Amino acid sequence: MRNLYVEPERPPEALEWPALEFHDVFRIFRSGPVETVALRGLDLRVERAEFVAVLGPSGSGKSTFMALAGALDVPSAGDVRVFGQSLARLGEAELARLRARDLAIVFQSDNLISTLSAHANVALSVELAGVEQPAAAASRALAQFGLAERATHRADSLSGGEQQRVAIAAAAARNASVVLADEPTGELDEANETLVIDALEALRTQYSSAVVVVTHSRVVAERADRVIQLRDGRVAA
Ligand code: ADP
Repeated sequence: MRNLYVEPERPPEALEWPALEFHDVFRIFRSGPVETVALRGLDLRVERAEFVAVLGPSGSGKSTFMALAGALDVPSAGDVRVFGQSLARLGEAELARLRARDLAIVFQSDNLISTLSAHANVALSVELAGVEQPAAAASRALAQFGLAERATHRADSLSGGEQQRVAIAAAAARNASVVLADEPTGELDEANETLVIDALEALRTQYSSAVVVVTHSRVVAERADRVIQLRDGRVAA
């Protein structure tokens, strides 16, 4: 029988690298004569199977950090690495593959295609990642995250917390090795927040994903292995 998963192309020794590294990263936005330094020498690393919360006041660079970590933006200077591989050295096709397969981003809301079922959403994400048998992988992940009974429901008929958990199940179903979540519990009540944090933690413990959550939530920060405080575009001393 064929292996259900497409073997990652990165070499086995890549597992010994940190999942995510920022080395002296700057991101400068220029608009005419005005320059905004959003990140000024950001250094950090997140290990495989680590759950990190990133906190910081508004304007400290959290969104800019997420965009760079998700390979959606490029630094003005410095180096961003995923499993030791510098993103600057990757071509467009390799970056697209990295985004589809290894990196997953969970936003505050609207992570799903509203008119598709929960199952179809997860299966689509798995298919785009190039994993075989996306339907089976989607069913397994939804069941694991306690969403089997919601699988056939349209995404827009699910509660906010369920939608977030479906997005997390999609990251699990495609075995994303780095999961970035931007205020994933920002719109949820406490009970749903706990369920979403449980799901993020399951990604870490059961899939060995590195989980990086930008959050204002004290509850999320308390559950993380480590808290990184950003201030003025770098890690606060
Ligand atoms: P946070 O997410 O912590 O609120 P951001 O990363 O959004 O911080 O922003 C950091 C700084 O960079 C802010 O001063 C912000 O105004 C600026 N900034 C972010 N994106 C842009 C952009 N596209 N153009 C110009 N300035 C930007």
